[in-house]
Amino acid sequence: LIQLYVPLNFLGVLYREIRQSLTDIERMFGLMSTHREIADSSGAGQLERGRAEVRFEHVGFAYDANRPILHDVDFTIPAGATVAVVGHSGSGKSTLARLLFRFYDVQAGAVRVNGHDIRELGQDSLRAAIGIVPQDTVLFNDTLFYNIQYGRPEASREEVEAAARAAQLEDFIARLPDGWETRVGERGLKLSGGEKQRVAIARTLLKNPDILIFDEATSALDSRTEKAIQAQLDAAARGRTTLVIAHRLSTVMNADEIIVLDQGRIIERGTHTQLLARAGAYAQMWALQLEEREAEEDPA
Ligand code: ATP
Repeated sequence: LIQLYVPLNFLGVLYREIRQSLTDIERMFGLMSTHREIADSSGAGQLERGRAEVRFEHVGFAYDANRPILHDVDFTIPAGATVAVVGHSGSGKSTLARLLFRFYDVQAGAVRVNGHDIRELGQDSLRAAIGIVPQDTVLFNDTLFYNIQYGRPEASREEVEAAARAAQLEDFIARLPDGWETRVGERGLKLSGGEKQRVAIARTLLKNPDILIFDEATSALDSRTEKAIQAQLDAAARGRTTLVIAHRLSTVMNADEIIVLDQGRIIERGTHTQLLARAGAYAQMWALQLEEREAEEDPA
C-alpha cells in the first residue's frame, strides 16, 4: 500500500502545483468557470518580437449579446508608451486586458499589435509577448528563488537576482534568515500585498515581454507603499508598451495618456495635467481620492 501511496501523493502535489500556476492568470481574468475556447485561425501568423504598438480600433464587445460592455473604444498605445485606463468599477477596464490577451474576441472593430489583427496571430506568440502583473499574485509553496525564476525557468541565477534587484526585493530578501531559500506561499512565509506584487514584477522582468499589463491592486495601500509600487512600475514599464488598469489613481500620473471609461465608453482622454485642467470626470475622481487619502491619514 505504501508503494502506491507515495506516487499517488506525489501526483497530488504535482496536480496542486499545476492548478496553482494556472490560477494567477485565471484569477486576473475571472475565468474560472466562464472560459470560452478561442481557436487559432488556419495560417495564423507569428508576432515578431521587439517593438510593439497596441491598438484598440473602434472596439465593441459584449460577454453576452444582450448586455454590451464596450462601445467604440478607440485608442493606440505607441511602442514603448504607457496608457492608463481609469473608470468606476464595472466600466470595462479589465475587459480591455482580457481582449488584448485574447481570452475573448471582439464583436466590432479589432485589437491590433503592430498592425496585425490579433485574431490572425497564433495565441502562443501573442501571449509570449505579453507579461501580466496581476492584482493578487499567487505564490507557489516553494522558495522565493523558485517563485521569481518561474517567470523564465531557464534564467540563470544572475538573471534572477538582477530581476529581484530591479523590483527592489533585494534588501527584503537579504534580511530573511533563509534568504533566497525562504519558503513562501500558503505553507511558508506570508508576504504582504506589496511584497507579492514585487515578486510579480520580478517574474515579469525576467520574462522580458514587449507588452506589459499592470493590473493595479484594488486594496488601499499606505502612501509610502504606493510610491514604491509606482517606482517599480516605472522600472518595469521602461521600454515596454504598457497598459495600466488603474483601480485607484496613484499609478496613472506619469502615463503618456489616460483613458477615462464610463459604462464602456471613452468619455475623457489626455495626460494627468490636461485632465485636471478640464475639470471633468477625471478631476472629480482625483479630488475624491485626495479627500479619502487625507481622511485616512488624519482621521481627526
Ligand atoms: P473593477 O474596477 O471593479 O475591476 P472593471 O472596470 O475592470 O471593474 P470589468 O471587469 O471590465 O470592469 O467588467 C465590466 C462589466 O462586464 C461588468 O459589468 C461585469 O459585470 C461584466 N463582466 C465581467 N466579466 C464578465 C463575464 N465573464 N461574463 C459576463 N459579464 C462579465
